Parts: sequence; structure tokens; C-alpha cells
Amino acid sequence: MKPGSEEKAVAIEVRGLSKKYGSFQAVDDVSFEVQAGQLVALLGPSGSGKSTILRTIAGLETADSGSVMLTGEDATDLPVQRRGVGFVFQHYALFRHMTVRDNIGFGLKIRGVPRAEVRRRADELLDLIQLGGYANRYPSQLSGGQRQRIALARALAPRPKVLLLDEPFGALDAKVRDELRTWLRRLHDEVHVTSLFVTHDQREAFEVSDQIVVLADGKVQQLGPPQSLYERPANPFVAGFLGAINVLPLRSLKAGSVGGGPESWMDRPPAEHAEAYVRPHDLDVFASRDGKPYWPATIERITPLGGVVRLDLRIAPDHPLHIEVPRDRTLGVAFNTGDEVYVSPRHLNVYDRVRGTFEPVDVHRAIGLSLENGAGI
Ligand code: ADP
Ligand code: MG
Repeated sequence: MKPGSEEKAVAIEVRGLSKKYGSFQAVDDVSFEVQAGQLVALLGPSGSGKSTILRTIAGLETADSGSVMLTGEDATDLPVQRRGVGFVFQHYALFRHMTVRDNIGFGLKIRGVPRAEVRRRADELLDLIQLGGYANRYPSQLSGGQRQRIALARALAPRPKVLLLDEPFGALDAKVRDELRTWLRRLHDEVHVTSLFVTHDQREAFEVSDQIVVLADGKVQQLGPPQSLYERPANPFVAGFLGAINVLPLRSLKAGSVGGGPESWMDRPPAEHAEAYVRPHDLDVFASRDGKPYWPATIERITPLGGVVRLDLRIAPDHPLHIEVPRDRTLGVAFNTGDEVYVSPRHLNVYDRVRGTFEPVDVHRAIGLSLENGAGI
């Protein structure tokens, strides 16, 4: 093997996967790759096709078209048991009549691995998942979180080429979920088994994964490292799904301005139906004008949320705008409900519905001229 080639190897390669249920297109020409050793999240709302894709990779579902390569081998037509995949589902299906140790060793036992070896591997995995003292317990004697850890150990026991997890923490309460996410990430850093993790929870995807594949309506919307998706979303769906965002119709905001057509604020003026997308923390609020580009607005509600303060504003004539500012920045200002303030975006994207473009816009260019005529953007 060439130096460095280990890290660059592709462990899962999905090409042009499509699947219909009746006339419903559940998966629509999906392609992506997972590098060996990475933990990748398949993130999307309920019904977006995540489980269908995962089950197709596992061999539990057959696609209408497309291919699945696993560690360089075409697995499209391989039966489940020959794919070398381990899976963990939301509803742990541990065998109730078997001890924890026997549950973990089950996959090895049915493959004819000698008893002593099965036991050794099960105990090694019990230590890895930090449940060393639980070998002789039965599933009913464990908490939900512990059962999911056992399910994961059972999936890892036969040393799968890839691990597939379908909302593995979905049935657990919020606190246990939180702990298990951190635990899974640490475990992955130790074991490095290539893992594809299905979730509808944006935060969960951000916390555990190296890369995220965002899905909607059976199609890949964007893929990349979590922070880059957040900072440079490719389209309005990704922008809205990965965190709170304000959507401001540009035309109606401009209606109050004096002169200055669309040409005045962008090199390539948006067509009629354009919208500005701005995150609540990408907006600054000022009590007075200070030469920055701004939108005049009225404070409707102030909600302290610990470290940040949420301001619900309204831009004339009738556009709600949500802002979050760090608590210490509001201290000296003492905003009140009803105050007229000036809001300045540090960063925004413009979605041009006619062209279908979604692009970051330089704020000073975007608002420069409207400053001169004294109106909003
Ligand atoms: P997700 O895991 O993202 O929630 P799924 O892959 O489970 O989405 O399902 C995608 C779509 O396909 C959903 O609208 C779902 O109702 C539909 N679907 C999934 N499985 C079947 C099936 N066996 N028969 C008919 N429709 C299905
Ligand atoms: Mg699902």
C-alpha cells in the first residue's frame, strides 16, 4: 500500500442510487462517498430517504438503479451476509434470553468462531464500551443507553468493513442521547471503523460527524464538513435546515426606498423574486446610526436566554426579524420594547428564485446605496 493511501481510500461509494415505492420516488439519483475511517452523517428530515439509502447499502433493500461499492468491491448484488457490514438500529433488537456477553458474541458464534475466541472478543468489546462488569446480565437488566452500547458492540464484534447506524439514539431521552453522542465520537476515534450514521437531528450530526450528507426529497442537497455547510450552504433548504435563519423578501424591503433600483446594490441585480437569508447571530443591532449599512427596525420583544439575548424585531413595513446578540453586548445599551434601532447584517446570502442562485453577497455593496438615500436595503 502506498504511503497515505490508507487515509484516502474510499470505503463506501454510492453511485446514482434511485428507488421508487409504487410511483413515489423515495431516493432520486443519490451519489456520495465515505472515506475509510470517517464517521459520516446522513442528515435530512423524516421521509427524505435516509433509511432507504442505508438499507440499500446494507443489502436489506434493492435499488431500482445505481451501485454500491464497499471497500473497492462492487456490492450491488451481494447478499447481506457477504457485505461485511454491521448495523445498529433505533430499536435495539438484543436477544432477551441471552446474556450481554452472548449477545455480543452471537455474530461470531454463527460464523463458527471457536468458543474461547468468541468469549475473548466479547470481553474485549465490553471493556471498549465501558460495560466490563455487565457480561452476565440480561438485556432487561440494562438501561436503554446501555442496551444501545451493547447493540453497537455486537455490530462491531465480527470486525465489519463498515458500520451503519440508523438513528441509533432516537428512542432515548435527551440527556442520555447527549452522553451517547459524545461517547460514540470518542469510541470512533479509538476504533476508526468507517461509519455512516443516519439522523434527522442537525445538532447530532454536527456533534459526531466528520462529514455530513444533507438529504431532502430523496436527493443529496450538499455534502461537506459540518462547519462549511453551515457557513456556505448551497441552497435555501440547507441554510434553513442547519440552523435558524431570517428570510427577507428583497423587493418589499426595497419598496420603501427612494430611487435606487436593484442595480444600485449588486453587480448582478436579483430578479423580481429574491430573498435575503441572514442568521440571527450574523446581525448587529445599534441604538443609533453609526455609518454602517443598516435596516431601521422596531424592537417587539426581548428574551434573555442566558448567554445570548434574543430580540424579535420588525422591519418596516411588516417583516419580522430575529436577532441573537451576546448578553454582554446588550448590557450598556439597555434596549427596551418599542425602541427604534438600526440593524446591520455582517453576512447574508441572496436567493434569486428566477435564476435559482444562492450566493453570499458583500454587505457593503449590497447596502451601500440605500444608505445614501436613507432607506433600508
Ligand atoms: P427517512 O429514513 O429519511 O425518514 P425513508 O427512507 O424511511 O426516509 O423513507 C423515504 C420515503 O419512502 C418515505 O416517504 C416513506 O414513507 C417511503 N417508504 C419507505 N419505505 C417504504 C415501503 N416499504 N413502502 C412504501 N413506502 C416506503
Ligand atoms: Mg429513517
